[in-house]
Amino acid sequence: MIEYWNPLVERMPVDEMEKMQESKLRNLVSYVYKHSDFYKKRFDDAGVKPEDIRTLDDLKKLPFTYKSDLRDTYPTGMFCVPNEQLVRFHVSSGTTGKPTVVGYTHNDVKEWSISLARALTSIGVGRGDVIQVSYGYGLFTGGLGLHYGAEEVGSTVLPTSSGNTEKQLELMQDLNTTVIACTPSYFLFMNEVANQAGVSIQQNTRLRAGIFGAEPWSEEMRVRIEEATGIKAYDVYGTSELSGPLFTECQYQDGIHIWADQFLIEVIDPETGEQLGDGERGELVITTLAKEALPLIRYRIGDITVINKEPCRCGRTHPRIMRVLGRADDMLIVRGINVFPGQVESVLMTIPEVGEHFMIIVDRVNELDAMKVQIEMTDEAFSDKVNDIITLEKKVEASLKNVLNLAVKVELVEKGTIPRSMGKAKKVIDNRKL
Ligand SMILES: [Zn+2]
Repeated sequence: MIEYWNPLVERMPVDEMEKMQESKLRNLVSYVYKHSDFYKKRFDDAGVKPEDIRTLDDLKKLPFTYKSDLRDTYPTGMFCVPNEQLVRFHVSSGTTGKPTVVGYTHNDVKEWSISLARALTSIGVGRGDVIQVSYGYGLFTGGLGLHYGAEEVGSTVLPTSSGNTEKQLELMQDLNTTVIACTPSYFLFMNEVANQAGVSIQQNTRLRAGIFGAEPWSEEMRVRIEEATGIKAYDVYGTSELSGPLFTECQYQDGIHIWADQFLIEVIDPETGEQLGDGERGELVITTLAKEALPLIRYRIGDITVINKEPCRCGRTHPRIMRVLGRADDMLIVRGINVFPGQVESVLMTIPEVGEHFMIIVDRVNELDAMKVQIEMTDEAFSDKVNDIITLEKKVEASLKNVLNLAVKVELVEKGTIPRSMGKAKKVIDNRKL
């Protein structure tokens, strides 16, 4: 039996949903025009008035917003409510320059919890589950986001935050954790630490599902995780600017449902900004329909994906975004060829001798880009024979060349050489930027 958190909304016929979106969009544009000097100026500069926006088709008349707008108006210049109406701030660390600040009204926190409550229900998580939240708590939205969603559906939360892996594993066994939420790389590290201590996640714990995100990961990595630990691995999506983690795949693991009554999505050509059709690959753009403190209009989130509006087997009518290949910012350009770290991961994870940890290193040698991938072998494949190592390196190089259309040097390194991560894993070192 398929369960829904809110069956009326989750199964709403598409035409009814679009009417609702149009009405919410009209309210949104008047709201931001009235309450935010930033948006008023942005609309005026673009020569668009709130009354020009009547239908979903009018969306493309509206100007985009960017992460840089949040930085330029630091800390709260884009907010639509006075600070005394906020119940919380989250702050995302900027790799360059100022961080971005997100504020929430009481209602914003409630809507966020509802998004996650629907998502958790769609993967069969609810009352009776113990959810170990190993995302970081604090200014980062991962920990508290999952925490509130899990409480909303009546699960028991074990707020371990990230780090202290031995303790995490001990509590997982003693308190019968059934669901874990963390980055996929941290879960792999946890599994490694468990195995070293003679603990099998499959046999010695009750873990049955993982909610993995905050970094891109591939379908092939899902297969690895599920086979190694016997759990179901689900993708979760969201960013702090939209509130935090908000959406997951449903039980069918075939795309992430985006709650259409709360968020309006489109895919555009990142170069020209033109809207693309359903099924076309491009940059995801999101408009928030239910946020009060920091609504975002046509926000350029930077992830490359495809929208799927086909009906889903779960009966939900909300559109799905297909597995995110990576952020436009994460894309490497090597000798003029676009490379996403996720593509490299997809190739590596299909080669049985290759372990789960790798590092991409890009250099400039004699004015030319050179890309190298360091990989660890699995314990089973480990061999001292130089010939075997060279054969495997050549095999991986050929597979990468085949998919990326680029010559890549592969270097096998000893197990444990690639740094392990408790949060977002660093998978690229680009020495050209130094
Ligand atoms: Zn579904």
